[in-house]
Amino acid sequence: MEKLANPQKTIEIIQKNHFTFQKRFGQNFLIDAHVLEKIIAAAEITKDDFVLEIGPGIGTMTQYLAETAREVTAVEIDRNLIPILEETLAPYENVTIVNQDIMKLDIAALAREKNGGRPIRVVGNLPYYITTPIVMGLLESAVPLLSITVMVQKEVALRMQAGPGTKDYGALSLAVQYYAEPYLAANVPPNCFIPRPGVGSAVIRLTRRQTPPVQVKDENLMFALIRASFAQRRKTLVNGLKNASDLDFSKEQITQALADVGLSETVRGETLTLEQFAALADALDGI
Ligand code: SAM
Repeated sequence: MEKLANPQKTIEIIQKNHFTFQKRFGQNFLIDAHVLEKIIAAAEITKDDFVLEIGPGIGTMTQYLAETAREVTAVEIDRNLIPILEETLAPYENVTIVNQDIMKLDIAALAREKNGGRPIRVVGNLPYYITTPIVMGLLESAVPLLSITVMVQKEVALRMQAGPGTKDYGALSLAVQYYAEPYLAANVPPNCFIPRPGVGSAVIRLTRRQTPPVQVKDENLMFALIRASFAQRRKTLVNGLKNASDLDFSKEQITQALADVGLSETVRGETLTLEQFAALADALDGI
C-alpha cells in the first residue's frame, strides 16, 4: 500500500480534496516515515491488539497501525477529514473511522465492544491544545488500558517523565507517574510536520501500572496536596499548603505532619517524591 508519510503525497491529498488546516483542532500532519516507524515500535503493538487512534488526520499513522494491530478505531473530530480518511484507508478492512470529539467518546464502551473489555492500546499524534485532559482523562478513568503512546509537545513529555528536584517536575509528573510508567521514545523536530508547529515535539509511551507505586489512604487528599505545593512553587511546602483554598490545615498541623514523616518545615514541595507525598497525606489524614 502506498504510504502517505511524505510531503509530496500529503500535499497532493490536501490539494485534491481542497482541505484547509484548522488551527483550532491542532492540525499538524506527520510527513516523516522514520518518525512513524519509531512511534509504532514504541507502542509495542501486536496482531492481538485493538488500538484506539486519537486524531488520524488524513490517515498517515493509521496505515501503520492497521498493518500492525488486529483492529483500529480512529476517532477524528474534523468532519472535513472523514471523506479523505474513507478514501485513504479504504484498503484496510480492520479500520473503523469515527467522526467524534474524543473528549465525548465513551472509551470504556468502545473497549467492551471491540476488545471484549480487555485492555486496549491508545496511540495518537495528539492535538496539543487538549493533550493533558486526554491523557489524564484516560489514566484516571476506568478504561482498561495497556499503554498510551502519543506525540506531544516536547515540554509536556519532559514534565510527564521528570523526577523530584528538576525544573520540569510538577503536578503532571506525579499524576502521570502514579498511574503509568513513562518512557520517552523520540524527539521530533518541527520539520517532520505540515504545517510546522511552533514547538518541538516528542513521543512518549505511558505503560499503565497494574497497581499504583504507593499506597495512600486518601488519593484525593494526596493529589490536593500535590496541586497545592506546585501552585505556589517558590514557597515552602508549609506556606503552599496553608494558603490552599481547597485544604483546611493550620500551620501547626502541617508542621507536625512534616515532622512525623521526617521532613523539615522549610522543605519545598518540588523536592518531594511520590512516596513522600503519600506519607504526608497519610499523616494529615484524619487530623
Ligand atoms: N494523526 C495525524 C498525523 O499524524 O498526521 C494528525 C495529527 S494532528 C496533530 C491532530 C489530529 O487530531 C487532527 O486531525 C485534528 O483534527 C484531530 N483532533 C483535534 N481535536 C480532536 C478531538 N477533540 N477529538 C478527535 N480528534 C481531534
